[in-house]
Amino acid sequence: MPQRVYTLPTNKIQKMKEFYKNELQSTPQGAIFRAKTKNAVITGYKSGKVLFQGSSPEIEVKKWDLGLEKAKHTPKHKQTRAHSFTPPHILYSSSHIGSDEAGTGDYFGPITVACAFVPHDQIQTLKQLGVQDSKNLTDRTIRSIAKDIIKLNIPYALLVLHNEKYNRLQRKGWSQGKMKAMLHHHAINKLLQKINNQPNDGILIDQFCEPAVYQKYLASENESLPSNTYFLTKAESHSIAVAAGSIIARTSFLKEMDKLSAETGMDLPKGASSKVDQVIAKVIKKYGKESLSQIAKVHFANTHKAEKYL
Ligand code: MG
Repeated sequence: MPQRVYTLPTNKIQKMKEFYKNELQSTPQGAIFRAKTKNAVITGYKSGKVLFQGSSPEIEVKKWDLGLEKAKHTPKHKQTRAHSFTPPHILYSSSHIGSDEAGTGDYFGPITVACAFVPHDQIQTLKQLGVQDSKNLTDRTIRSIAKDIIKLNIPYALLVLHNEKYNRLQRKGWSQGKMKAMLHHHAINKLLQKINNQPNDGILIDQFCEPAVYQKYLASENESLPSNTYFLTKAESHSIAVAAGSIIARTSFLKEMDKLSAETGMDLPKGASSKVDQVIAKVIKKYGKESLSQIAKVHFANTHKAEKYL
């Protein structure tokens, strides 16, 4: 769906609201207005962002002499499907919960999921500590920032799905997607209890599947989505709460990997490369194939690929 985004002064957004007064729809969270014409849905946010989405957004854009304003075009390959679970921009500066996971693509080690509740007045402090997308940080920095987050008493919940249980669920027919969905769901519920329903403006999950699929996973276990839940891909680069969750999850994954390496007396590599295949062969020679179910995600193709090193 074509879309255009502009950043405009509030008085101009108010003028738009007035202009579209006969086409107004219910106002989403964080927005000043939303209107629907036959060409586009126009949403003006308190943050100053105005979004034109629909079959012909340019027709509505033309009414506004926006030539001098900066339009942000998202390259086609970077566009993700818009859905009603996309958070309003204002969420990133509000008190919110963010949730992310680690270890899903790694052959050795568990999946860890962590969510954190960041009150709006702590967002700046966390930014100053260096909390950001953990993909841009070294493991060493991640571990040190995780300590700082915990020192600040940022409420969080952390779950570790150890390999033995992972493999059991996988044999039972659970996809990794379902495991992740249930982990996020349980971690979020645990955190909501912990913060004793302190007011929060929303819950943001780093999106790993379509929200409808996530809801289907929950429904299959008789669970449902808490209200105000949003999904966004690469959420850790927008939300400090997701970034904090991501750092806590990654740190926990690193610690679990340290433990497994110490227990096996081998330096277990992260990821799922051919280097991993070689280490799998060493583990099998030393402890037998069955031992893998305690330390690895055995359904990964690596288990089979390791045979050529035996
Ligand atoms: Mg993620």
